[in-house]
Amino acid sequence: MWYHPLYTDGIHPDARFPRDRYVRVLERLTPYRTGKQEQAEGSPFIEIHTPKPIKREHLLLAHDAEYVDRFLAGTLTEKEIKRIGLTPWTEDMVQRTLLLMGGALEATEHAVQFGGISANMAGGTHHAHRNFGSGYCVFNDLAVCALHALQNLNVRRVAVLDLDVHQGDGTATTLQHVPEALTVSVHCDVNFPFRKSSSDYDLPIAAESGDIRYLEAVEEALDLCFEHQPELLLFQAGVDALAADALGKLNVTRTGMQRRNEIVFERASKHNVPVVVFMGGGYAKPLDGTIDAFEDLFTQAASWSTGRTTTASNVQ
Ligand SMILES: [Zn+2]
Repeated sequence: MWYHPLYTDGIHPDARFPRDRYVRVLERLTPYRTGKQEQAEGSPFIEIHTPKPIKREHLLLAHDAEYVDRFLAGTLTEKEIKRIGLTPWTEDMVQRTLLLMGGALEATEHAVQFGGISANMAGGTHHAHRNFGSGYCVFNDLAVCALHALQNLNVRRVAVLDLDVHQGDGTATTLQHVPEALTVSVHCDVNFPFRKSSSDYDLPIAAESGDIRYLEAVEEALDLCFEHQPELLLFQAGVDALAADALGKLNVTRTGMQRRNEIVFERASKHNVPVVVFMGGGYAKPLDGTIDAFEDLFTQAASWSTGRTTTASNVQ
């Protein structure tokens, strides 16, 4: 996993966004970290790596130079900043964004090189488009990583599986002319973004749907992903479909969310496809329900990766 303290500290304490989610998930994962406890043989473990800031050239894989450069220079308009949110912005916002994107990129490179499952403990910034940010997303890590894998890592086909309760609109538009990158989004039909984009496959589900309907859609989404014969799966693993979520509008239980994760990792393992987990949304009030679900997500990922049978098919 990749993590940096600025994932939390780069967001202003007064921002409406629950910035503590990152540091709180890190605390929960401490017992699973290598060397941090006497572990039973074969029990899941998690290595935490510190990301390097992403390079401008990698942002340009999915974004217009004009937008990238104005963000880096701190000259986005008030309107553009408001659309992104995470306000009031701090001086660290640029560095936080570069580290978050760098963590995603390094997790992707690791998964391609070594197989198994890697993760970034932030991101899943699926509402960012080529030339503007939106909904807590500055740049689109899923699109950048998909294009990096295809153009620079010798990956022939990639699938983006987006199970966040909100549609992956920015990912859909950014990758719409890239046939090697399949985009599949399961989301609540009446939730943000209210003007939806067209993913390769959209599986909208009705508000108040519970575990059964959500998991049916997840199974269907996985069928579509693996028909594409991906060599890499990018998993936007937002947990805002939980009943406890303030922005979700669905009624998925913690157990249902655990089942979701299990289905994804089981299928990827069966197909021998490496997975990158992008954290995604989660806004329960109080936040505990979200933190529980992210702890489940990352420890399940660690279990599957520790006992993995996946190997990279395209090590160079
Ligand atoms: Zn979301």
